[in-house]
Amino acid sequence: MSEEYDPMPSSRRLPKQTPTTIGNHKLSPATLMMGYGYDPALSEGSLKAPIFLTSTFVFEKAADGKRFFEGITGKRPGGGTAEGLVYSRFNGPNQEILEDRLRIWEDAESALTFSSGMTAIAILLLSHVRPGDVVIHSGPLYAASESVIDKILPQFGVGFVDFPAGATREELDAVMAQAKAKGRVAMIYLESPGNPTNVLVDVEAVHAARAAAFAGDAELPPIAIDNTFLGPLWAKPLAQGADVSVYSLTKYAGGHSDLVAGALVGNRSVIDKARLMRNTLGGICDPNTAWMLLRSLETLELRMDKAGENAAKVCAFLRDHPKVEKVGYLAFLEEGSRQEDIYRRHCTGAGSTFSLYLKGGEKEAFAFLDALQIAHLAVSLGGTETLASAPAAMTHLSVPEERKAQLGITPNLVRISIGVEDPDDLIADFAHALDSI
Ligand SMILES: *Cc1c(COP(=O)(O)O)cnc(C)c1O
Repeated sequence: MSEEYDPMPSSRRLPKQTPTTIGNHKLSPATLMMGYGYDPALSEGSLKAPIFLTSTFVFEKAADGKRFFEGITGKRPGGGTAEGLVYSRFNGPNQEILEDRLRIWEDAESALTFSSGMTAIAILLLSHVRPGDVVIHSGPLYAASESVIDKILPQFGVGFVDFPAGATREELDAVMAQAKAKGRVAMIYLESPGNPTNVLVDVEAVHAARAAAFAGDAELPPIAIDNTFLGPLWAKPLAQGADVSVYSLTKYAGGHSDLVAGALVGNRSVIDKARLMRNTLGGICDPNTAWMLLRSLETLELRMDKAGENAAKVCAFLRDHPKVEKVGYLAFLEEGSRQEDIYRRHCTGAGSTFSLYLKGGEKEAFAFLDALQIAHLAVSLGGTETLASAPAAMTHLSVPEERKAQLGITPNLVRISIGVEDPDDLIADFAHALDSI
């Protein structure tokens, strides 16, 4: 590039590349979680990555520092990545290993970790909008995500247009046209399945509708999707045309209800915009949490498989119980229905979080929750332990009554996230709680 003194950087000791194939055999994510992206030789032979508790990293040469900062600030190509470690608001070994491993699950180009799912979502949106823009989003969304779009972004002159999660191609075409008439469309933001009703978005149809609506435009609005409920094991929306999968790693990825973190996984061009903003604002996952997540990812498939099998058994029991009105579980979608068609095309498993509609109302739901002995009465999901809550009275308390009714968030709804306990013990717990209503 220039003639000035500019040696190759020497601070960055690149990890020995972990193989991702053996001959023609491609290694599975479950296997790669044990070592990918980490070289023990760089850490005294330690089998596990140490936790790098440091706020800053020593440069070997001044020219290295300059070169790395050119990366961080976007003066060098790379979208805010540096060739070396600089300062813990920008990057760190634990976070980089975690990002490398998260990419594996969705065969993605890039990943970025954050201090919470909401930090990931806020930075993703803020790094893409400018005044006068419009965000298109599916509904329902996680309540705080909806607040970012309908309360925070409007403060900066950004509007939105929303559509119901199950929308058909024709409905999506109409929504795209309506949004385009309002301004530049900055992003199409989806959540599937929607919380707490499990309604699925047809990502393939959204992708096709975007191609038709923005044909000939220099830039397409990126499609982002909150994949917290089924990802990264049972849904890989990048394969259906999404550009970025959004995660609350607090849930299944963390999996032990002992941390809060988030991530973006997907196309480099979209992730890089968020990375440049994260470099400036902060919001990166801390090294200790990143280390805990590396631990968690080693058992991700094991935990999710077991939780999924447990949920199938528990739901089969609940479905036929006389005190149960309905079980909103993805494997019970009506054969031949549009939702079942989306499920078949987009998902490889029904997950372990579902809705239980009891006969009765809030009184029955509360009596059931208060009688549980193994399942814990708490919000959140995706942990090793089974959790149960009443969305209408808890997570969705602030949603206006009319919208609650429209979304099926009724007082008799109990949301359950099944863990990895013995399934017969869980069935005994639910049977006893139903008997005590
Ligand atoms: C929990 C959750 C979030 C927010 O994640 P935090 O880690 O709590 O910030 C976003 N989306 C969905 C679907 C969630 O369940």
